[in-house]
Amino acid sequence: STSLLSSVQGVAVELARITKTYGSQHALNDLSLSVKPGEFVALLGPSGCGKTTALRALAGLESIDSGTILINGEDVTEQPTNKRDMGMVFQSYSLFPHLTAGENVEFGLRMRKVNASDRRARAAAALSMVGLDSHQGRYAHELSGGQQQRVALARALVTEPRVLLLDEPLSALDAKVRVQLREEIRRIQTELGITTLFVTHDQEEALAVADRVAVMQAGTIEQIGTPEELYRTPATPFVAEFIGLSNRVPGIVSDGSVEVLGQWLPLLHPETANGPVRVMLRPEDIELAPAGIAATVVSSSFLGSLRRTRVRLADDTLVNVQHGVRENPEAGTVVYLTLNGTAVAVGPA
Ligand code: ATP
Repeated sequence: STSLLSSVQGVAVELARITKTYGSQHALNDLSLSVKPGEFVALLGPSGCGKTTALRALAGLESIDSGTILINGEDVTEQPTNKRDMGMVFQSYSLFPHLTAGENVEFGLRMRKVNASDRRARAAAALSMVGLDSHQGRYAHELSGGQQQRVALARALVTEPRVLLLDEPLSALDAKVRVQLREEIRRIQTELGITTLFVTHDQEEALAVADRVAVMQAGTIEQIGTPEELYRTPATPFVAEFIGLSNRVPGIVSDGSVEVLGQWLPLLHPETANGPVRVMLRPEDIELAPAGIAATVVSSSFLGSLRRTRVRLADDTLVNVQHGVRENPEAGTVVYLTLNGTAVAVGPA
């Protein structure tokens, strides 16, 4: 199936200082993003942060007020959508209801005046790539949600676009199908080597599939990095709290270290100003120990390979602790904690 799309080549995509306003509302606020050839980048952020606007601006579906869009080094800012050569998949099923799966996939080829036998062959190969060989003759209402999104993916890829844009393509699907399909999208993307931007508000999804994740807030990118970089070295308090499960506890910064509950920890950002702060600690950096910080167990959940226990500190702060399944603290009992790792100051006390 990859030979079908043999002309797909990873291209670099660059958004430089993009601004877009709706009235007085900044949807995109000086947003810059560089995507490498063949890279899979997720745009992740809360509702209204501008993810969809960024994707639509890249596709040429939305005009921008200022900034430059480059594809493969070529300035496409003034080019119409059809010249930009992008394949798109949207959240809601966008198949033509009066066409079969095969005809839906052929549609873009028909627009490009590809002859009938080539169309049929390429549509069949694209449907095979998404695992729907035998569903060519079905109409949208005869397909499940997941199957419809597979057809939409085949339709987006069959014209061999330069870039693949996915706008929450999985969010209307149930959890199991969502996970299956994201793995499949990742497999196909890797096989083709097609540069891909994937919009999602689901952090687990973004971390699971993307080479790099761009965390957005208020129309701009707060940080872009590999999932591990974002988790371990968040550049801002927003990223620290948005990615992964975190605990907030009070602390006092002194010259690059922070005193938390009577223990000293290094700060990820040692330049943090001295004084009282709120500190973010990851659940796996808090350990159950024979002695240390006293806490009362509120609840404990078995999560298969690990256990997560919620405890209440003396000052009433609730904290999540992650530990092995051999320890099974009972609600109401007193346990002791020690702190490891690196703390991130996420705000004033
Ligand atoms: P969601 O996850 O909820 O779709 P998003 O991150 O994709 O959010 P956008 O849809 O890009 O966010 O919207 C960014 C901002 O621009 C929001 O404040 C939104 O209300 C505003 N906006 C988007 N489209 C329009 C429009 N056509 N007219 C006016 N305001 C708009």
